[in-house]
Amino acid sequence: MKFSLKHLILLVALLSVALTLISSITSGHRVNQDTLIENTLETNRVYAQKLADVTDTFFKTTLQTLKYSSKDVVEYMKQNNSEELLLKETKRLFNETNTFNSVVVTSATGKIIAASPEKLDLLGKQVTSPGGLQALEERKPLITKPYTSITNRLIIFISHPIFDDKGQYLGYVGGSIYLLEENILNDLLGKHFYQDGSYVYVVNEDGKILYHPEKSRISAIVPGNPVIEAVISGKSGDKRLTNSKGMDLLAGYAYMPTTSWGVVSQRPTEMALLPATETRNEMIINTLPFLLLSFIIIIYISNQIAKPLEKLGKYAESSMIKNEKEEIVDVNAWYYEAIQLEKALVKSLSFLEDKVNYFIHESTIDPLTGLVNRRSMDETTKKWIDQKVPFSIILFDIDRFKRVNDTYGHSVGDEVLKFVAKEMLAVSRSTDVCCRYGGEEFIMLLPQTTILQAFDIAERLRMKFETTVSPCGEVITISSGVASYPECAEHIMTLIEVADKSLYEAKNSGRNKTIMADFTEAHKELLKS
Ligand code: GH3
Ligand code: MG
Ligand code: MG
Repeated sequence: MKFSLKHLILLVALLSVALTLISSITSGHRVNQDTLIENTLETNRVYAQKLADVTDTFFKTTLQTLKYSSKDVVEYMKQNNSEELLLKETKRLFNETNTFNSVVVTSATGKIIAASPEKLDLLGKQVTSPGGLQALEERKPLITKPYTSITNRLIIFISHPIFDDKGQYLGYVGGSIYLLEENILNDLLGKHFYQDGSYVYVVNEDGKILYHPEKSRISAIVPGNPVIEAVISGKSGDKRLTNSKGMDLLAGYAYMPTTSWGVVSQRPTEMALLPATETRNEMIINTLPFLLLSFIIIIYISNQIAKPLEKLGKYAESSMIKNEKEEIVDVNAWYYEAIQLEKALVKSLSFLEDKVNYFIHESTIDPLTGLVNRRSMDETTKKWIDQKVPFSIILFDIDRFKRVNDTYGHSVGDEVLKFVAKEMLAVSRSTDVCCRYGGEEFIMLLPQTTILQAFDIAERLRMKFETTVSPCGEVITISSGVASYPECAEHIMTLIEVADKSLYEAKNSGRNKTIMADFTEAHKELLKS
């Protein structure tokens, strides 16, 4: 397949525009994405830190509240109506702090001596829950790991020991938070739930989920999550990760020193990158009119560039058959290469034309006399015979020319031949054709001329030589045979033969003569031979 210059220019220009656009849109898109990822990570990191601070402060305050309460409880235990006072205290903790789902006070042996809300029916019972037992055993401020309570709830338990003035252990005051029900963590963390797939979750030091917007995931342990691993080892920061469900996420995380928990705030990368995709699509749409305009301009320019070369190429091809120099000059070559090409083409065509003319001249003209040669004569007579143009011929030969050569030399002989040609042209009309037929034999072709008219002309020529001194210093004479077409013969060779016969006769009958062919005779003779 041959590509035209126009298509190649078009292809290159379109490709460069398209590639430039694609690369700028792609790189812009990438920069946008990077910025969005960076911003999202930073936002999540700051957000996780903020939540961690708030939650940590909350637990610190809660432990503080329980501490103060434990002091009050010591006082209440001394009173006669201690039962009533303790119940009031648990109620206060339950209602005022709004932190706990249940509140209890126990004795040093683990008997529940006050509990709120009362409907739980815990009063008087012995503590059996892991959180309670841990509190009794450790006798220090405590936030437990999540466990399932007697009431079959997933809870964490926050407690403070009760010591009297002498430092004697009297039990603990503690509250539970139901992880799967409405609780304070929901209030602290859940309100910040975003619309776009972002969410926050909390893990404890074992990597167990304590808070998650999807309740079913609470208390689950997610193994191999790099963010959870980082946050429970006490680190805060941000990270892009693929979670256990294969989701690409941008996470910020923060450690809470009071509880040794970690908060993770994360957003699906796909969601974070959505604005970049929208911007890119917008860019593509905004670029389309420009692209279309560029294409139109490119097509126009490539056409303008290719047109002169296309035309020059076409004319160069057709100039092999016919000369189209003028059309080439008319081509609007408007830039350097085309101008040069046009000049070169015109130059080479002119050169070719000259050469062709030269060779045509060379092949049709006798160099010595300037008369047409036999070849050209054949062409002329063929044309006349084809067109049925009647004509006559005079075939003549210089008498005793050998002697001229022998006496005066060959070059003088040549001068005589030139002289003969000149005289021949002098008697001829513009339509006649004068031809050097052989060495010193000549033929005059006379269109629209009868044999009698031709005879007259031959005689005029003969008499001219007879009375004119030739370049050799002597008078030379000629003998002629005259014949006519179509009377004497219908073919040129036969016609020349007929004329030659008459010439022969002229020679034989003493030279310096003109003999007209008797065409009836000539015919008979020819038919005989
Ligand atoms: P005739 O009357 O019988 O024709 O006698 P002639 O001497 O002319 O005889 P012939 O035709 O045999 O001789 C022609 C001579 O013309 C012979 C040749 O040397 C001479 N000749 C032919 N061509 C040229 C030429 O180009 N230049 C010169 N100088 N001589 C030529
Ligand atoms: Mg001769
Ligand atoms: Mg001769």
